[in-house]
Amino acid sequence: MCNACLMESVRASVRAHPTAFERSAATAATAMAAGALTARENLARSSGRVVDLTHTYDSDFPTWDGKPGITMRQVKEFGRDMSNLFHLSIYEHTGTHVDAPLHFSADGPSLSELDPQKLLCPLCVIDISAKARDDANAMVTRDDVERWVSTHGEIPQGACFAMHSGWGAKAPHSTFRNTPDGKLAFPGFSRAATDLLAEMGVAGIGVDTLSLDPGNSSDFAVHYAWLGGGRFGIECVANLDQLPATGTTVFVGAPKHRGGTGGPARILAVA
Ligand SMILES: [Zn+2]
Repeated sequence: MCNACLMESVRASVRAHPTAFERSAATAATAMAAGALTARENLARSSGRVVDLTHTYDSDFPTWDGKPGITMRQVKEFGRDMSNLFHLSIYEHTGTHVDAPLHFSADGPSLSELDPQKLLCPLCVIDISAKARDDANAMVTRDDVERWVSTHGEIPQGACFAMHSGWGAKAPHSTFRNTPDGKLAFPGFSRAATDLLAEMGVAGIGVDTLSLDPGNSSDFAVHYAWLGGGRFGIECVANLDQLPATGTTVFVGAPKHRGGTGGPARILAVA
């Protein structure tokens, strides 16, 4: 698709969103309340085991555009200043991080406007690692979501639904991002799957890769539809292999800089 055609299709998709947003907003409050209740039930049954879903990152951690995501300059040093302090320069979308709706919409909620009710929620994990071994750009499809539901039961409203593709174990190696010839290659969600998750009242989606869309995506259909619908995403999630498919709770420690489109986050699950 030419750039002009792509931009027009993106604009058409963005123009279509207010309808979807209004439709989903009607059920949002109920969904979030239900999510908080399920999270409370999950917590009551949990063993209390905390799983850190956050990668440790530095300037070598792979990023979508290949630029270092963080640089750190030490401005105070204990031996000299009796304290340690770094000055950080970061791109918002680096390391394990949250995507706010504003990232792919004209005027969706920013990080600082995210409803905290949505950030503590039941977590569902879908394992697509078997097909991702054969196809680096494998997607969570609508069929995968329907199969997950028939095996594990309904996805609680207000949940976070996360893709485990096995990519988390590749970080921080370059194979987390690209093929040896430099082409972006990693699994993600399909638009049909996230449309279904939106209908189910899911609050957020997570991926153990660099992007909600697969690496070979050129239209970022999931970013525009999902974030444009007022929902959040989490990218570069770690350690999803340590969690069962259902029954756990996730705390999304999204940062809160005013007007932010996303940012490095501490993501914790209680199993
Ligand atoms: Zn992002």
